[in-house]
Amino acid sequence: MISKKEFSCVDCGKCCQIMTKVDSSDIEKIEMRGHRDFTMKNPLRGGDSEVYLKRVKDDCIFLGWKGEKSYCTIHPYRPKTCRGYPFFDHNTLDVKDCLPENVLGSSVFKVLRQV
Ligand code: SF4
Ligand code: SF4
Repeated sequence: MISKKEFSCVDCGKCCQIMTKVDSSDIEKIEMRGHRDFTMKNPLRGGDSEVYLKRVKDDCIFLGWKGEKSYCTIHPYRPKTCRGYPFFDHNTLDVKDCLPENVLGSSVFKVLRQV
């Protein structure tokens, strides 16, 4: 069990190595800071209207690294999904840690990790 009150991110970057869904307000905020060409349609579902942040190799296009520590290069205006992770609307989660395979469950994780 992890709780929002005691949670501390160790900047491992694992939750930024899955596809991150964004909506029009997320995109607008990022574009207002001058970024362009950072989204993609879900490549696993042709014709789908869902939009995700592009990835570079295994990482979100906005993920930076300082040695083994990751950081979000758009942290002040990162998408809502990223702000809510891993608790979203909950104060506690019945999982052993915040790794996305545990927070999202293995089937969702597999889909979001595939591309
Ligand atoms: S998986 Fe957990 S510890 Fe790693 S960056 Fe994401 S929130 Fe932080
Ligand atoms: S926008 Fe930032 S917090 Fe969100 S997935 Fe990308 S690097 Fe991670």
